Amino acid sequence: MSKQEEKQIAIVTGGSRGIGRAICQELAGVGHFVIINFMTDEPGAQATLAQVRAAGGDGEVLGFDVRETQKCETIIEEIIQRHGQIDVLVNNAGIIRDGLFMMMAPENWRKVIDTGLHGFYNMTRPVVEQMVRKRHGAVVSISSASSFMPNRGQANYAAAKAGLNAASRVVAAEVARLGIRVNVVAPGLIETDMIQDAPKDQIKTMIPMARIGRPEEVAKVVAFLCSEAASYVTGQVISVNGGMV
Ligand code: NAD
Repeated sequence: MSKQEEKQIAIVTGGSRGIGRAICQELAGVGHFVIINFMTDEPGAQATLAQVRAAGGDGEVLGFDVRETQKCETIIEEIIQRHGQIDVLVNNAGIIRDGLFMMMAPENWRKVIDTGLHGFYNMTRPVVEQMVRKRHGAVVSISSASSFMPNRGQANYAAAKAGLNAASRVVAAEVARLGIRVNVVAPGLIETDMIQDAPKDQIKTMIPMARIGRPEEVAKVVAFLCSEAASYVTGQVISVNGGMV
Protein backbone atom coordinates (compact mmCIF):
# COMPACT_ATOMS: atom_id res chain seq x y z
CA MET A 1 0.00 0.00 0.00
CA SER A 2 1.30 3.46 -0.82
CA LYS A 3 1.22 6.28 1.74
CA GLN A 4 -1.79 7.69 -0.10
CA GLU A 5 -3.83 4.48 0.14
CA GLU A 6 -3.17 3.80 3.84
CA LYS A 7 -5.66 5.04 6.40
CA GLN A 8 -4.49 8.53 7.39
CA ILE A 9 -4.80 9.29 11.09
CA ALA A 10 -5.50 12.90 12.06
CA ILE A 11 -5.83 14.37 15.53
CA VAL A 12 -7.62 17.68 16.03
CA THR A 13 -7.49 19.42 19.42
CA GLY A 14 -10.61 21.22 20.58
CA GLY A 15 -12.85 19.36 18.13
CA SER A 16 -16.07 19.63 20.13
CA ARG A 17 -17.34 22.77 18.40
CA GLY A 18 -16.55 25.78 16.20
CA ILE A 19 -13.57 25.77 13.87
CA GLY A 20 -12.27 22.48 15.35
CA ARG A 21 -15.51 20.71 14.51
CA ALA A 22 -15.41 22.03 10.93
CA ILE A 23 -11.79 20.83 10.59
CA CYS A 24 -12.77 17.34 11.82
CA GLN A 25 -15.56 17.21 9.23
CA GLU A 26 -13.34 18.45 6.43
CA LEU A 27 -10.49 16.02 7.19
CA ALA A 28 -12.92 13.10 7.51
CA GLY A 29 -14.44 14.15 4.17
CA VAL A 30 -11.08 13.69 2.47
CA GLY A 31 -10.59 10.26 4.02
CA HIS A 32 -8.82 10.77 7.35
CA PHE A 33 -9.73 8.79 10.45
CA VAL A 34 -10.18 11.72 12.84
CA ILE A 35 -9.35 11.68 16.54
CA ILE A 36 -11.56 14.39 18.02
CA ASN A 37 -10.10 15.86 21.20
CA PHE A 38 -12.25 17.61 23.77
CA MET A 39 -11.45 19.01 27.19
CA THR A 40 -14.81 18.97 29.02
CA ASP A 41 -17.50 18.97 26.32
CA GLU A 42 -17.80 15.26 25.54
CA PRO A 43 -21.35 15.60 24.13
CA GLY A 44 -20.03 18.25 21.72
CA ALA A 45 -17.23 15.91 20.62
CA GLN A 46 -19.72 13.05 20.19
CA ALA A 47 -21.88 15.36 18.05
CA THR A 48 -18.83 16.09 15.87
CA LEU A 49 -18.21 12.34 15.54
CA ALA A 50 -21.86 11.75 14.60
CA GLN A 51 -21.55 14.38 11.85
CA VAL A 52 -18.30 12.81 10.64
CA ARG A 53 -19.97 9.39 10.46
CA ALA A 54 -23.14 10.75 8.83
CA ALA A 55 -20.91 12.08 6.05
CA GLY A 56 -19.37 8.62 5.56
CA GLY A 57 -16.16 9.21 7.55
CA ASP A 58 -14.95 7.73 10.82
CA GLY A 59 -13.09 8.69 13.96
CA GLU A 60 -13.11 8.57 17.74
CA VAL A 61 -13.37 11.04 20.62
CA LEU A 62 -10.60 11.51 23.16
CA GLY A 63 -10.79 13.71 26.26
CA PHE A 64 -7.67 15.45 27.57
CA ASP A 65 -6.36 18.91 28.36
CA VAL A 66 -3.66 20.19 25.98
CA ARG A 67 -2.12 22.13 28.89
CA GLU A 68 -0.99 18.88 30.54
CA THR A 69 2.43 18.01 29.12
CA GLN A 70 2.77 14.48 30.50
CA LYS A 71 -0.81 13.56 29.68
CA CYS A 72 -0.35 14.67 26.05
CA GLU A 73 2.77 12.49 25.72
CA THR A 74 0.96 9.47 27.12
CA ILE A 75 -2.09 10.03 24.93
CA ILE A 76 0.08 10.29 21.81
CA GLU A 77 1.93 7.08 22.69
CA GLU A 78 -1.42 5.33 23.14
CA ILE A 79 -2.72 6.60 19.78
CA ILE A 80 0.40 5.29 18.07
CA GLN A 81 0.01 1.91 19.75
CA ARG A 82 -3.63 1.79 18.62
CA HIS A 83 -3.33 3.19 15.09
CA GLY A 84 0.33 2.81 14.15
CA GLN A 85 1.00 6.46 13.35
CA ILE A 86 -0.27 10.03 13.37
CA ASP A 87 -0.21 11.58 9.89
CA VAL A 88 -1.81 14.91 10.70
CA LEU A 89 -1.92 17.06 13.84
CA VAL A 90 -4.14 20.12 13.98
CA ASN A 91 -3.49 22.33 17.02
CA ASN A 92 -6.84 24.11 17.17
CA ALA A 93 -7.53 24.40 20.92
CA GLY A 94 -7.45 28.00 22.06
CA ILE A 95 -9.15 30.35 24.48
CA ILE A 96 -9.55 34.08 24.99
CA ARG A 97 -9.56 35.95 28.29
CA ASP A 98 -9.62 39.54 27.07
CA GLY A 99 -8.86 42.54 29.26
CA LEU A 100 -6.67 45.61 29.22
CA PHE A 101 -3.07 44.65 29.97
CA MET A 102 -2.76 47.03 32.93
CA MET A 103 -5.56 45.21 34.69
CA MET A 104 -4.94 41.70 33.42
CA ALA A 105 -5.03 39.09 36.18
CA PRO A 106 -2.06 36.71 36.15
CA GLU A 107 -4.31 33.67 35.67
CA ASN A 108 -5.77 35.22 32.50
CA TRP A 109 -2.28 35.82 31.13
CA ARG A 110 -1.18 32.28 31.96
CA LYS A 111 -4.30 30.34 30.93
CA VAL A 112 -4.32 31.80 27.43
CA ILE A 113 -0.62 31.14 26.89
CA ASP A 114 -0.83 27.70 28.52
CA THR A 115 -3.55 26.66 26.10
CA GLY A 116 -2.44 28.36 22.89
CA LEU A 117 1.34 28.14 23.14
CA HIS A 118 2.25 25.48 25.70
CA GLY A 119 -0.54 23.34 24.21
CA PHE A 120 1.27 23.62 20.88
CA TYR A 121 4.49 22.40 22.51
CA ASN A 122 2.77 19.61 24.46
CA MET A 123 1.19 18.14 21.35
CA THR A 124 3.61 18.99 18.57
CA ARG A 125 6.88 17.83 20.16
CA PRO A 126 5.86 14.20 20.74
CA VAL A 127 3.86 14.01 17.48
CA VAL A 128 6.75 15.36 15.41
CA GLU A 129 9.12 12.92 17.14
CA GLN A 130 7.08 9.99 15.83
CA MET A 131 6.54 11.64 12.42
CA VAL A 132 10.31 11.92 12.04
CA ARG A 133 10.60 8.15 12.46
CA LYS A 134 8.11 7.68 9.60
CA ARG A 135 9.59 10.54 7.52
CA HIS A 136 6.05 11.75 6.92
CA GLY A 137 3.45 14.07 8.43
CA ALA A 138 1.78 17.47 8.50
CA VAL A 139 1.14 19.82 11.40
CA VAL A 140 -1.21 22.78 11.12
CA SER A 141 -1.85 25.15 14.01
CA ILE A 142 -4.61 27.72 14.30
CA SER A 143 -3.28 31.15 15.11
CA SER A 144 -5.15 34.43 14.65
CA ALA A 145 -5.11 37.77 12.88
CA SER A 146 -4.55 39.08 16.44
CA SER A 147 -0.99 37.76 16.20
CA PHE A 148 -0.23 40.52 13.65
CA MET A 149 -2.50 43.39 14.68
CA PRO A 150 -2.74 45.17 18.01
CA ASN A 151 -6.28 44.37 19.17
CA ARG A 152 -6.74 46.15 22.48
CA GLY A 153 -7.47 43.73 25.32
CA GLN A 154 -5.67 40.80 23.68
CA ALA A 155 -2.05 41.08 24.86
CA ASN A 156 -2.23 37.53 26.26
CA TYR A 157 -3.86 36.08 23.14
CA ALA A 158 -1.55 37.99 20.76
CA ALA A 159 1.49 36.75 22.69
CA ALA A 160 0.28 33.14 22.54
CA LYS A 161 -0.56 33.28 18.84
CA ALA A 162 2.55 35.22 17.75
CA GLY A 163 4.62 32.68 19.70
CA LEU A 164 2.81 29.91 17.85
CA ASN A 165 3.64 31.50 14.48
CA ALA A 166 7.31 31.89 15.36
CA ALA A 167 7.72 28.44 16.92
CA SER A 168 5.99 26.81 13.92
CA ARG A 169 8.39 28.44 11.47
CA VAL A 170 11.37 27.17 13.46
CA VAL A 171 9.99 23.64 13.77
CA ALA A 172 9.18 23.69 10.04
CA ALA A 173 12.79 24.55 9.23
CA GLU A 174 14.08 21.82 11.58
CA VAL A 175 12.02 19.01 10.04
CA ALA A 176 11.61 20.15 6.42
CA ARG A 177 14.23 17.68 5.14
CA LEU A 178 12.60 14.84 7.05
CA GLY A 179 9.32 14.82 5.11
CA ILE A 180 7.28 16.79 7.64
CA ARG A 181 5.50 20.05 6.92
CA VAL A 182 4.51 22.55 9.61
CA ASN A 183 2.19 25.43 8.81
CA VAL A 184 -0.14 27.90 10.51
CA VAL A 185 -3.55 29.25 9.58
CA ALA A 186 -4.38 32.71 10.95
CA PRO A 187 -8.13 33.34 10.78
CA GLY A 188 -9.75 36.72 11.08
CA LEU A 189 -13.17 36.92 12.69
CA ILE A 190 -15.01 33.59 12.31
CA GLU A 191 -18.59 32.88 13.37
CA THR A 192 -18.23 30.64 16.45
CA ASP A 193 -19.15 30.72 20.15
CA MET A 194 -15.75 32.26 20.89
CA ILE A 195 -16.73 35.60 19.34
CA GLN A 196 -20.30 35.81 20.63
CA ASP A 197 -19.49 39.02 22.57
CA ALA A 198 -17.39 40.67 19.85
CA PRO A 199 -18.71 43.95 18.34
CA LYS A 200 -19.30 42.29 14.96
CA ASP A 201 -20.93 45.22 13.14
CA GLN A 202 -18.02 47.45 14.08
CA ILE A 203 -15.43 44.83 13.11
CA LYS A 204 -17.12 44.14 9.76
CA THR A 205 -16.30 47.68 8.64
CA MET A 206 -12.58 46.74 8.88
CA ILE A 207 -12.98 43.63 6.70
CA PRO A 208 -12.72 44.20 2.92
CA MET A 209 -15.24 41.40 2.30
CA ALA A 210 -17.53 43.10 4.86
CA ARG A 211 -18.56 39.83 6.48
CA ILE A 212 -17.58 37.38 9.20
CA GLY A 213 -15.97 34.14 8.03
CA ARG A 214 -17.43 30.66 8.41
CA PRO A 215 -15.65 27.80 10.22
CA GLU A 216 -15.64 25.68 7.05
CA GLU A 217 -13.76 28.44 5.20
CA VAL A 218 -10.92 27.96 7.67
CA ALA A 219 -11.25 24.17 7.61
CA LYS A 220 -10.80 23.97 3.83
CA VAL A 221 -7.46 25.79 4.04
CA VAL A 222 -6.36 23.53 6.90
CA ALA A 223 -7.28 20.44 4.87
CA PHE A 224 -5.33 21.79 1.89
CA LEU A 225 -2.24 22.32 4.05
CA CYS A 226 -2.59 18.77 5.41
CA SER A 227 -2.85 17.30 1.91
CA GLU A 228 -0.33 16.28 -0.73
CA ALA A 229 -1.58 19.24 -2.78
CA ALA A 230 0.50 21.37 -0.39
CA SER A 231 3.61 19.17 -0.69
CA TYR A 232 5.95 22.19 -1.22
CA VAL A 233 4.32 24.43 1.42
CA THR A 234 5.96 24.60 4.84
CA GLY A 235 6.84 27.21 7.45
CA GLN A 236 3.98 29.48 6.31
CA VAL A 237 1.38 31.50 8.17
CA ILE A 238 -1.68 31.66 5.88
CA SER A 239 -4.32 34.29 6.64
CA VAL A 240 -7.99 33.45 6.16
CA ASN A 241 -9.58 36.77 6.99
CA GLY A 242 -11.66 38.28 4.19
CA GLY A 243 -8.83 40.44 2.93
CA MET A 244 -7.55 42.25 6.03
CA VAL A 245 -3.87 43.25 5.74
P1 NAD B 1 -14.32 27.77 20.39
O1 NAD B 1 -14.24 28.39 21.73
O2 NAD B 1 -15.63 27.51 19.78
O3 NAD B 1 -13.48 26.42 20.36
C1 NAD B 1 -12.27 26.25 21.04
C2 NAD B 1 -12.11 24.79 21.33
O4 NAD B 1 -10.89 24.59 22.06
C3 NAD B 1 -13.24 24.24 22.20
O5 NAD B 1 -13.64 22.99 21.68
C4 NAD B 1 -12.57 24.09 23.56
O6 NAD B 1 -13.15 23.09 24.36
C5 NAD B 1 -11.15 23.72 23.14
N1 NAD B 1 -10.21 23.91 24.22
C6 NAD B 1 -9.98 25.02 24.96
N2 NAD B 1 -9.03 24.78 25.87
C7 NAD B 1 -8.64 23.50 25.71
C8 NAD B 1 -7.67 22.67 26.35
N3 NAD B 1 -6.93 23.14 27.36
N4 NAD B 1 -7.54 21.39 25.93
C9 NAD B 1 -8.30 20.91 24.91
N5 NAD B 1 -9.21 21.65 24.26
C10 NAD B 1 -9.39 22.93 24.66
O7 NAD B 1 -13.46 28.72 19.45
P2 NAD B 1 -13.17 28.71 17.88
O8 NAD B 1 -13.57 30.02 17.39
O9 NAD B 1 -13.68 27.47 17.22
O10 NAD B 1 -11.57 28.69 17.95
C11 NAD B 1 -10.77 27.63 17.46
C12 NAD B 1 -9.36 28.17 17.26
O11 NAD B 1 -9.39 29.23 16.31
C13 NAD B 1 -8.76 28.77 18.54
O12 NAD B 1 -7.37 28.47 18.59
C14 NAD B 1 -8.94 30.26 18.34
O13 NAD B 1 -7.99 31.01 19.05
C15 NAD B 1 -8.77 30.38 16.84
N6 NAD B 1 -9.36 31.58 16.24
C16 NAD B 1 -10.71 31.81 16.30
C17 NAD B 1 -11.21 32.96 15.70
C18 NAD B 1 -12.67 33.31 15.70
O14 NAD B 1 -13.01 34.43 15.29
N7 NAD B 1 -13.57 32.42 16.09
C19 NAD B 1 -10.35 33.86 15.06
C20 NAD B 1 -9.00 33.59 15.03
C21 NAD B 1 -8.52 32.44 15.62
